[in-house]
Amino acid sequence: MEQIAFGDYGLAAMSHRAGVLGWPEPLPPAVKYSLSYLLVQAEFGLCCPLSMTDSLTRTLRKYGAPELVERYIAGLTSQDLNALTQGAMFMTEQGAGSDVAATETCATAAPDCGPGVYRLKGDKWFCSNPDAALAMVLAHVDGEPDGMRGVSLFLLPRVLPNGEANSYRIVRLKDKLGTRSMASGEITLEGAQAWLVGELGRGFVQMADMVNNSRLSNGMRAAGLMRRSVAEALFISRHRQAFGKRLIDMPLMQVQLAKMLVKAEQARTLMFQTAQALSRADQGEAGAYALTRLLTPLIKYRATRDARSVAGDALEVRGGCGYIEEWSDARVLRDAHLGSVWEGTSNIVALDVLRAIQREGSLSVWQDHMRQLLIATPWHARVRAAIDALMERLGGLAQTTADHKDEAQARRVAAGLYHLTSAIAMGWESHQTQNPRRMVLAQCVLLHRLMPRDPLSTNKVSDLDLLWSTDSPTGAIDHICLL
Ligand SMILES: Cc1cc2nc3c(=O)[nH]c(=O)nc-3n(C[C@H](O)[C@H](O)[C@H](O)COP(=O)(O)OP(=O)(O)OC[C@H]3O[C@@H](n4cnc5c(N)ncnc54)[C@H](O)[C@@H]3O)c2cc1C
Repeated sequence: MEQIAFGDYGLAAMSHRAGVLGWPEPLPPAVKYSLSYLLVQAEFGLCCPLSMTDSLTRTLRKYGAPELVERYIAGLTSQDLNALTQGAMFMTEQGAGSDVAATETCATAAPDCGPGVYRLKGDKWFCSNPDAALAMVLAHVDGEPDGMRGVSLFLLPRVLPNGEANSYRIVRLKDKLGTRSMASGEITLEGAQAWLVGELGRGFVQMADMVNNSRLSNGMRAAGLMRRSVAEALFISRHRQAFGKRLIDMPLMQVQLAKMLVKAEQARTLMFQTAQALSRADQGEAGAYALTRLLTPLIKYRATRDARSVAGDALEVRGGCGYIEEWSDARVLRDAHLGSVWEGTSNIVALDVLRAIQREGSLSVWQDHMRQLLIATPWHARVRAAIDALMERLGGLAQTTADHKDEAQARRVAAGLYHLTSAIAMGWESHQTQNPRRMVLAQCVLLHRLMPRDPLSTNKVSDLDLLWSTDSPTGAIDHICLL
C-alpha cells in the first residue's frame, strides 16, 4: 500500500514538485484529495503518514531555513521507497493536548552542534508514525516566557547529518481502538538535536499551518470512510432479500440509506470546496485564505462526527454479519471514531471556527462566496427564499457568538455553517454537472439537517429513488422543490 500511495501515485509529493503522474507542475489540492479519497476507502491508517509527510513538507518549505529545505526536500518528495523520507508531528504531551501552551518539553540552544540547533528533553505522549525520519516538534525554549509565546517549532531528524542516531526513544506503542495498520507511540527525548524552524516563540502559529493542512486531510478521510460505508450498504441493499423483496425496495431502508448518503456527500462537497479555496489561497487570491480558515475546521468538525454514525449505520445494514470481523464494517467503524479526536477534538475545532470568524474576518468572505454560488444556481424561488432567510439568521448567530466568545454555542454555529455551505454548494454542483441527484441531496440537507422540524410532521422527500438510480439522470433540476 505504501508503494501505491507514496510511490505509484506520489500522493505526498504531488503538491510540492512537478513530474508526479506526468504533470508538468505541482498538482492542485483537489487532485490530491480526490485520489486520497479513493485510497482511504481501502486503507485508512496509511493516510496518516501520507498526510504528515505532505504537511511537514509544506510547513518546512514555508518556514524552514533554506539549507534545511535543500537537505530534505528530495527525500520528502521521493516516489522511490528506498529514498523516501517520511514525516511526523510530535506535539501532544500528557499535560498538553488541546492546551498546547502547557508544553513542557524543553529546548536548550546548542550552538556547539551547529547554527540553529537546540537540544530537546521531554516526553511526547502521542506520536503517530513514530519511526518517521523527520518530525516537527513543539518545545518550550529555555529562558522564554511561559505559555504560548515561549513555545517554538523544531525539526527533529531520526538520524543526524553525521550518520549517528539522534537521542530519543520510542518508549511504548499505543494499544489503539482503530488505525491498527499504523503505529502510534510515546517518545522520550533525551537531549535530541533539532533545528529551530521559523521564528522563536511562533511555534504554535507555524504548527497551526501544518495542523490545518492535516485537519482538511481528516475531513477528506471522513468523507472517504463514509463513501466506503455507503458503497457497502448500497451493495448489500441491492443484493440481499427479506420478505421476498430486495432491501433497497423497502421504504424504511430507503430512508436509512438516504440519511447515510446525504452525510457522505455533504463531506465530499465540502472537501472540494475547501480544496479549491486552499488552491486559491496558495495563489495569493484575496479572501481565499480567510475562507480556507473557516471551511477547514467546519469539515473537520462535522464530517468526522458524521463518519461515526454513517459507519455504524452501514454495519447495521449488513445485519448480523456487519458485526463480524470478516467484513469491513467493524474496522471502518473503529477507524471512523478517531477522526474527531486527533488533530483537535470536536470542541477545540468548533472553537476554532469562532476564532476564524473573529480574527480572519472569515464570515463575510464566506457570505460572499455563498452568494456567488447561489447566483450561479437556478434554485426554485421558494427554496431560494428559504436559503436567504437561513443565511441571514445563521450569519447573525455566528457573528454574535464570535463577538461574545459564547463558547457554548460554538458547535451549533459550526454545524449550521457546515450544513448550509454543503447545501448551497451541492445545488451549485447539481447545476454545473446537470445532475438533479445532487439537488435532491441539497434539499435533504436543508429539510432534514437545517430546518427546525415538527417531530410529528409526515413531510417526505419524494425523489429518493433518484439517489441510487443506476441511470445517469440529467436536466430537470429546477423542478425539484421539496420545501
Ligand atoms: C490514535 C491517536 C494518534 C495521535 N497521534 C498524534 C500525533 O501524531 N501527534 C500529536 O501531537 N498528537 C497525536 N494525538 C493526540 C491527539 O491530537 C490528542 O489526543 C487530542 O488533541 C486531544 O488532546 P488530549 O488527549 O490531551 O485531550 P484533552 O485536551 O485533555 O481533552 C479532553 C477533553 O476535553 C475537551 N476540552 C479541552 N479543552 C476544551 C475547551 N477549551 N472547551 C471545551 N472542551 C475542551 C476536549 O474536547 C476533550 O473532549 C493522537 C491521538 C490519538 C488518539
